Amino acid sequence: EATTLSATDEDKESEEHHGGKNLTLRVDGVRKSFGDNQVLRGVSFDIHRHEVVTLLGPSGSGKSTLMRCINLLEQVDDGQIWLNGTDISDPRINADRTRSRIGVVFQQFNLFPHMDVLKNVTLGAIKVHGISKDDAQERAMTLLRRIGMEDKAHTYPDQLSGGQQQRVAIARSLMTEPELLLLDEITSALDPMLVGEVLQMVQELKDQGTTILMATHEMQFAHDAADRVILLQDGEIAENGTPQEVMHDSQNPRTREFFSHFR
Ligand code: ADP
Ligand code: MG
Repeated sequence: EATTLSATDEDKESEEHHGGKNLTLRVDGVRKSFGDNQVLRGVSFDIHRHEVVTLLGPSGSGKSTLMRCINLLEQVDDGQIWLNGTDISDPRINADRTRSRIGVVFQQFNLFPHMDVLKNVTLGAIKVHGISKDDAQERAMTLLRRIGMEDKAHTYPDQLSGGQQQRVAIARSLMTEPELLLLDEITSALDPMLVGEVLQMVQELKDQGTTILMATHEMQFAHDAADRVILLQDGEIAENGTPQEVMHDSQNPRTREFFSHFR
């Protein structure tokens, strides 16, 4: 019994420091440089379960680098990243398994042009994450149905609009039922008239309780859809608060200057 007790205590301690039932992501003192270029200079923040956090900041401020560190596409130089209590910045971790716990969508449409929608959505789940073909296809069809695109399952990407392609990419990112969804400027390459349908899908995911970190320049959406806004400036967190606090009430001159460009 003594062993059981101490294990429980350890779990509790670990949970308090690095987890807590509802703490999905903890980024703690993360630093990342490329050569002399210090891109992330000690970044710390938490994301709780079901939270939607928008990540704002000038281009070059380190938003994509931060997301790539969370998704293990880059290794941090210093600091830790915890995903539901696991230190995923530990280099000994199984990167493929960890990536299946995080969904990612980038700015550029990442669909393979020579594969139909169904193949695009299922491929990674089957090849990388070890889901059976039958299960993957069933899940893919459910996801496509949810976004009203089941009739596009056998369509090739070049026959879809950019907005539809991005929605397929989002559906694909949900195949492994990720604990966290990273969206990196997913509407930046779209025609303005196609932005709305993609943001609408993000809003629906939020309504379903998906935990999301989203880098965007869509200020209205960042304001309306986010529970919290983080402003990154030169690789440091300049603001972390409610949309109202960060986008309207901040007295920080650099913050005010940044948002003045979008009014
Ligand atoms: P943002 O997404 O906010 O526009 P990035 O994270 O893309 O910012 O870039 C931040 C800085 O890091 C930039 O100066 C960029 O040139 C640099 N950077 C990003 N990725 C690399 C890389 N793989 N090698 C070298 N420098 C990089
Ligand atoms: Mg970027």
